[in-house]
Amino acid sequence: MFMNETGEEPQLWGDKRYHSLNCHLREKYGEKVSKISLDAGFSCPNRDGSLARNGCSFCSDRGSGDFVAAPQESLPEQFRQGQEIMRKKWPGQKYIAHLQAFTNTYAPVETLRKTYYIALEQPGVVGLAISTRPDCLSEEVLDLLTDINQATYLWVELGLQTIHKRSSHMLNMHYDYDDFIKALNGLQLRKIETCAHIILGLPGEEEEDMLETAQALSSLPIQGLKIHLLHLMKNTPLADIYAHQPFALLSQENYVNLVVDILEILPPQMVIHRLTGDSPKDLIIGPTWSLRKRLVLNAIDSELILRNSWQGKYYSGAGTVLLPV
Ligand code: SF4
Repeated sequence: MFMNETGEEPQLWGDKRYHSLNCHLREKYGEKVSKISLDAGFSCPNRDGSLARNGCSFCSDRGSGDFVAAPQESLPEQFRQGQEIMRKKWPGQKYIAHLQAFTNTYAPVETLRKTYYIALEQPGVVGLAISTRPDCLSEEVLDLLTDINQATYLWVELGLQTIHKRSSHMLNMHYDYDDFIKALNGLQLRKIETCAHIILGLPGEEEEDMLETAQALSSLPIQGLKIHLLHLMKNTPLADIYAHQPFALLSQENYVNLVVDILEILPPQMVIHRLTGDSPKDLIIGPTWSLRKRLVLNAIDSELILRNSWQGKYYSGAGTVLLPV
């Protein structure tokens, strides 16, 4: 076992210095569990005109569901195709069905119920992940999620992106940190696991701003975190802004350092669902270094080793607090 200069043993989860989703699911199910992304054909209030039509300025035409195998197909067919891809990579037979594209709690409750159960009925599915906006969790929807949570392993993914309201506003999100806290309260009261998404490298945010977001999340009752790098994608409002007023995109070195700084202050039990994002090669404007995902993940592992560090090394242990809204 590697020891640092103070004699402290690094905390390991499998062979990683952070608590990965892969490790969490292996611990829970005793084998590899793969996630299959699905597009249920829902819309989003930020795209259908209820709130706005252009969407969040970083969001692609596919509503952040760019890796769904065949969005035009039925859910079972999408699942079958996703399963075929996964089987080539992993021999495992267990899956989490992930309703990823657009806002997956934005439809009449009976439509949602039917969709969730279709996803759950696919062969080998042991759980469901539902991605949504914090302002699309009505009491009725929360009651449905409570039923699903009793029937299977469920987590809800909420796109927070940043705690800074000036950034949420600039990104045309039409919700902010207060909405996130309110949604989190509702989910926590119903004992539904929550995974927050954040984006590093938003225009106008400095390193301290991003660390403030991570620090705030480290004291909240969220069970999972997805860290994304801002991907500037073609055909997005952000690409137009960039064309007229270019802003700095993060370098790989800055990104890796920031991710490690963030991991160090998170609670060790928090599950890390992602440490960088994926985007189709033909749609990304920058930073293009992010396309070499394996190299980025290796660089994060190397930086953790170089610092003799691990997730939670500097977690303050302040406990979980919900802010009043
Ligand atoms: S809430 Fe999600 S799906 Fe809707 S515009 Fe924003 S990122 Fe896209």
